[in-house]
Amino acid sequence: MNKRNFMDMVDTMLRADFGKGIEKASKQEKYYAVAKTVMTLIADDWNRTETAYKQGKQACYLSAEFLMGRALGNNLINLGIYENVKEALDKLGIDIRDLESAEEDAGLGNGGLGRLAACFLDSCATLNLPVTGYGIRYRYGIFKQRFEKGFQVEEGDHWLRWGDPWSVPRTEDRVVVEFSDGKVQAIPYDMPILGYDTKNINTLRLWQAEPITEFDFQLFNNQKYDQAVREKNRAEDISRVLYPNDSEKEGKILRLKQQYFFVSASLQDMIRRYKQNHGKDFREFAQFHAVQLNDTHPVVAIPELMRLLTDQEGMLWDEAWKVTVKTFAYTNHTILAEALEQWDSALYRKLLPRIYQIIQQIDKQFVNELKEKGYSKEQIEKMRIMSKNRIRMAWLAIYGCHTTNGVAALHTKILIECELKDWYELYPERFQNKTNGVTPRRWLLLSNPELADLITELLGTKAWIKDLSRLKELEKYTDNQEVLERFMKIKAVKKRQLAAYIHDHEGILIDPNSIFDIQIKRLHEYKRQLLNAFHILDLYYRLKENPELEIVPRTFIFGAKAAPGYYRAKAVIKFINEIAVLVNGDPEIHGKIKVVFVQNYGVSYAEKLFPAADVSEQISTAGKEASGTGNMKFMLNGTPTLGTYDGANVEIVEEAGEANNFIFGARVEELVEIQDHYNPKVYYEQVPGLKRVIDALTDGTFDDGGTGMFQELHQSILEGAAWHKADNYFICRDFEDYRKAQQAVDLAYRQPLEWAKKCWLNLVNSGKFSTDRTIDEYAKKIWHIEPNKI
Ligand SMILES: *Cc1c(COP(=O)(O)O)cnc(C)c1O
Repeated sequence: MNKRNFMDMVDTMLRADFGKGIEKASKQEKYYAVAKTVMTLIADDWNRTETAYKQGKQACYLSAEFLMGRALGNNLINLGIYENVKEALDKLGIDIRDLESAEEDAGLGNGGLGRLAACFLDSCATLNLPVTGYGIRYRYGIFKQRFEKGFQVEEGDHWLRWGDPWSVPRTEDRVVVEFSDGKVQAIPYDMPILGYDTKNINTLRLWQAEPITEFDFQLFNNQKYDQAVREKNRAEDISRVLYPNDSEKEGKILRLKQQYFFVSASLQDMIRRYKQNHGKDFREFAQFHAVQLNDTHPVVAIPELMRLLTDQEGMLWDEAWKVTVKTFAYTNHTILAEALEQWDSALYRKLLPRIYQIIQQIDKQFVNELKEKGYSKEQIEKMRIMSKNRIRMAWLAIYGCHTTNGVAALHTKILIECELKDWYELYPERFQNKTNGVTPRRWLLLSNPELADLITELLGTKAWIKDLSRLKELEKYTDNQEVLERFMKIKAVKKRQLAAYIHDHEGILIDPNSIFDIQIKRLHEYKRQLLNAFHILDLYYRLKENPELEIVPRTFIFGAKAAPGYYRAKAVIKFINEIAVLVNGDPEIHGKIKVVFVQNYGVSYAEKLFPAADVSEQISTAGKEASGTGNMKFMLNGTPTLGTYDGANVEIVEEAGEANNFIFGARVEELVEIQDHYNPKVYYEQVPGLKRVIDALTDGTFDDGGTGMFQELHQSILEGAAWHKADNYFICRDFEDYRKAQQAVDLAYRQPLEWAKKCWLNLVNSGKFSTDRTIDEYAKKIWHIEPNKI
């Protein structure tokens, strides 16, 4: 295909869909036509891939969230035609970046968990692995965020408003999902997942809920308009909106409907395909299907497969159970108590009576097994799946899956030694670690082409894009001043680009020569944006006290959405925005520090932020962040971590060297030891400066608009509340250590060459954190599937 042909196709699309040629088309229309052209180009390979995968074993990745972001740039890059299309558009005076920005993010996820699923799909396709993603086609993705007077305001994310050129509805594959209160249709919308530098094209199949009969004209004709509309809405409600809670269970009936809806549809899909290709003997089902459950959200798949195999396909219970356990594997993503999903038994019984019975039977079977093994009554009560009118989804998962994995070495260790100790003792062979990763295609090649070009030039090959471990070969340039200078020039370019973008979108001017110190992730107490805020405020007060205090100018950048119902997280956003007003508006500070909280942090904003960072803030309370993947995106762009010994930070430092990062704070062991007698007031009284910044919440320095939210925040640190201890996340314990680590950053940055080396050593040692490595491990150690290149 040449450029001319490509543009001819774009022109044809425009005429067909919008009745105009390229010269009259809007940005949106041009984007749409280019996307449709790509879809046309890949159609045959997509079909060929599907046919090729049919015969052998496939893996299915079940996830309630896929945080995909934009597809256009990524797909053009993976097809290897980005430069060609860019040039062809250039000739017509069209900037490809403009078209890319016309695309709405597919924000069908909250944060790390959903983004991991998206990175996994990219790696599966790139590795030619037969893997299909299954999820929900939410009509509204993660809400859009803006700030009004420093408060978060949410707006619905109607991402399909301008159409969706990347999805194909496959009506012929629709299935029916049944609840006690009625049936709905599940319509699959397939998105192609293009691998990098391969013809294989995998599929993300997202289910949309629709009424069985589009509109009941009987009711309509009988003048029962309301009822007709209600029926339609009742069905469509199921896939209407993504629940915006990150790491927090949501016990609502609609959420349960969502889970069962996409799980049942996906399993019915697999069963139909199995029948087509392998007949009706389901004893071999697991030889052809490996199903990964991304967290507990799809765990209802275990009783649902039992239902389908026994009730529908006539299998005996014991045989079906063997198949089920062989089919499923479960990924645990958290040890936060508030995130461990448990459902009210009554809710299950009411909405899914048959599934409820099956879970009861699974529970009974498990209790019998434990009895036979000589477990005591108390032990059994602690471990059984149904207890105190609750269904414990994680327990059901571990019992019903052949493998359970954690997502970073430290996380898996904590699971095995503490949280899931009983389970590990029962099934030691079922536990594995799979350290998370990120795709180098989106998080380096697409978002930082300048750095990608330098790497390719130095290595003399693009092979690193599919084998990230090859970055290690660049270690020999660590003392090469010329290379380091080019490297830091690229960082400067990315910082200028970000500064321009922030100026456009936030209306704030930042200095590209200052240190860009960035904390971007969901807003959560355990992630401790508040610790960062307290440090900034402390630095501000120290600068006021001592105008001679010499620091390297610093820009503190935040990006985070708070769950709409998470009051305290919203208070932290308001607090940081208040600090920004105070600091940015104070002429005595002479621009030495600046604070920016960017609005609507999401995948597309992330692509601009990661490459421009000098400091990666990963300051969660030790033991609380299962892995983190933002930390890896920073590393991949040559940014040192300022962080705690938590999640994958531990492995990042192991790879890049402690000397090239800034590690501080209490470790897990210490926190376990002090937690029962921890008293934040001791630190509050004794650590210089700490009282001042905490009390700034309530002493009139800041205005929370009369909400009382700052008072509540203050209290949560010093007094605690009914549902948690004072300073639950040990901010006071770590404050002093954090300030010291921040001073170490300041000093290190003053030595440009030494600083560049640290950055370089992070980049060249980031090879482990490619999802290609992670997925290779899942394929070999859990799914037992082989590449199948078309
Ligand atoms: C990577 C990513 C995350 C996860 O960040 P953590 O720092 O690991 O919590 C969340 N949101 C977006 C948009 C991301 O790209």
